[in-house]
This record gives sequence, structure tokens and C-alpha cells, in this order.
Amino acid sequence: MRKKIIAGNWKMHKTVAEAIALASGIVDSYKPKRVEVVIAPPFTALYKVAEVIRDTHVRLAAQNMFHEPEGAYTGEVSPIMLKDIGVEYVIIGHSERRKYFGETDTTVNLKVKSALKHNLIPIVCVGETLDEREHGITMDVVRRQILGAFTDITADAFEHIVIAYEPVWAIGTGKVATPEQAVEVHRFIREVLRNELNVEAENVPILYGGSIKPNNIESLIKEPDIDGGLVGGASLRVDQFVEIVKISDRIVGGN
Ligand code: PEP
Repeated sequence: MRKKIIAGNWKMHKTVAEAIALASGIVDSYKPKRVEVVIAPPFTALYKVAEVIRDTHVRLAAQNMFHEPEGAYTGEVSPIMLKDIGVEYVIIGHSERRKYFGETDTTVNLKVKSALKHNLIPIVCVGETLDEREHGITMDVVRRQILGAFTDITADAFEHIVIAYEPVWAIGTGKVATPEQAVEVHRFIREVLRNELNVEAENVPILYGGSIKPNNIESLIKEPDIDGGLVGGASLRVDQFVEIVKISDRIVGGN
């Protein structure tokens, strides 16, 4: 069975003290049996949060990285630095990075290759804008992003890759995709992986992201094609995030 993951993207939120409190709350509240819990604090809090979650069920992610291992790249953080402090996952190509920081399919590809080279698991984000959906080009956009992100990545490497389908119109807007809309794209991504990249697509976890809350996770995670969620706003509160984890764990367990 594919890994099921609930990942919290804290974005540019939380001081170190607040991050420690949030991470501790998540660790102490509930230990799921089947779902992997991943949290992505801001860079400034990663080191301290790594200490809080060491030897627990919670795994650590970064929200971004640069593709070079070291060098004169003022303001950037390298995969080696992330590995050094216990980071296991890295979110790559989030739509906010594409929109505000000029990330392209090419930079995403460089980062995916670098993450894999340094034994970090990339959580690669793809998804269409509202305009693209309304123009009927969702699948073209997602296909381009998938083929771009995974150029020159071997099929074997997909054992260590997670994909997140995040329709841009659903991120931070309260407008969640319907399970049918999400499933349609998840299936399409698997087809592209299988048919165009010769990947064993059945083994690649594909998360959904976009306004996941405790009151809508059940209908999404019930779908066998949806392997979990990338959660933004609702990951900033212990009660909401833990509730999402609990519901997911129960549904994945068949209850
Ligand atoms: C995200 O940041 O990836 C996200 C899905 O945010 P939200 O849950 O707030 O829509």
C-alpha cells in the first residue's frame, strides 16, 4: 500500500517559541497508526523543532531549498544544511514560490534532482490557477509541471518522491476541491507518470492540498487515489491539525 501522509505547511508563521509549542502539541496529542505526520516549520524554527520531534512519530520537512550544496548564494539554504539538522522531506515548487519568487518548472527540476541526490524526499507541488481551470487547460498545465519537474529523473527515484496536487484556487481560499475534481487530477498524474515516464505510478503517493480542514478531510481521504493532504492554515493549530490526522488515520484504517 502507498504511504499515507498528512503534512503541515506552516508557511511564514511562528516564532521559535510558538513553533516549539505547536510541534510539542502535535507530538503529545495523538500518535497515528497508519498515517505519517510531517510538519514544515519556517527555516528559523527547524533546528529547535527537530529537537522537539526527535525519536517521535513526527517527521520534519523544509518548505524550500536551493539546489546547490554550498557556495556564494546569499540568503539560500542548501540540502546539506537541511540534512544536517534532521530534515527528511522538502516541499518543492509550492504555488506561492512559483507566484512570488519566480520558481519555474526548470528550477523545480533542479531542486528535485538535488533533493534526491542528498537523500531528502521532495514533496513536489503542482496545480492549476482558477483561470487555467476555467479555460479548460488544467490537465495541460499539470502535465507540463509534472514532465518539467521530473525531467531526467529515473523511474527508480520515484520510490523517494511525493507529489502534491494543489489547485491554486483552493489554497488559502476556503474553496476546497471536490473529491471528484481531486481524484480526476490524481488519476491523470498517475497516467502521465506511467505512460510518459515509465514510472510504477501505483507506488507514488499523491497528496491533495487546498483548504483542507477537519470538516472536509474525510471525503477526500476516503478516495483511494488521494494519499493524504498538504495542509496550510489548519496546520497552524494543534486541535485542527491533530483532528485531521485522527480522521485520516481512522479512514485509512477502514473505519
Ligand atoms: C498549502 O499551503 O499548501 C495549502 C494547501 O494551504 P491551505 O490549506 O491554507 O489552503
